[in-house]
Amino acid sequence: MNFRNKFSNFMYGRYGIDQLSRFILGVTFVLCILSFFTKGAVNSVLSLFIFASIVLLYFRMFSRNIYKRAAENEKYLRIISKIKFNKNFSKEAREQRKYYKFFKCPGCGQKIRIPKGHGKIEIRCPKCNNKFIRRS
Ligand SMILES: [Zn+2]
Repeated sequence: MNFRNKFSNFMYGRYGIDQLSRFILGVTFVLCILSFFTKGAVNSVLSLFIFASIVLLYFRMFSRNIYKRAAENEKYLRIISKIKFNKNFSKEAREQRKYYKFFKCPGCGQKIRIPKGHGKIEIRCPKCNNKFIRRS
């Protein structure tokens, strides 16, 4: 039996590497770089984290509890997609601020969006019908 066969035999029924493992690997790599530039207590803490993440990586890779590991990965992917969604959302908000001005109704606090560049205009609150004048 050559090494390749031995290795695939060993890995049979084990979890292997997924997106979460790659993420941990990336974090470990960053921590390693940081640890080069730190000294004393900070360096000790970093080393501890590096050690812990390497243990975690090996543990997940060789784990036979594939169902549980896949669930962890699923959780990680869900968090990532949420972060990506928030990024898009804030980008949209920035775009909106380019073309709109946002006011708060002095009566009820309702947020009102007005297109920019119309000078002084009277705004009517859609919620409480309170009228107020603002520069758009
Ligand atoms: Zn109002």
